[in-house]
Amino acid sequence: MKADIHPRYLQSEIRCACGNVIATRSTKPSMLIGICNACHPFYTGQQKFVDTAGRVDKFQQRLAKTQAAQAALAEAASKKKKKV
Ligand SMILES: [Zn+2]
Repeated sequence: MKADIHPRYLQSEIRCACGNVIATRSTKPSMLIGICNACHPFYTGQQKFVDTAGRVDKFQQRLAKTQAAQAALAEAASKKKKKV
């Protein structure tokens, strides 16, 4: 092995969001991951709800707003029809 041309091959830790820590070796001393074999539904066989950014929440808020607006529009339209 030629000197001073290779990256350092360190003891490395892979830390998952679920708390699982995997010890391995890498040129990086540590890595943070969002999902691993201990918590991925494919390996656990259980459905897991992953909503880190609150996207489902945001969607449901938007849906409620839209439905309210549509209901208001429909009500306004039915009132107009009654007047005419
Ligand atoms: Zn995990």
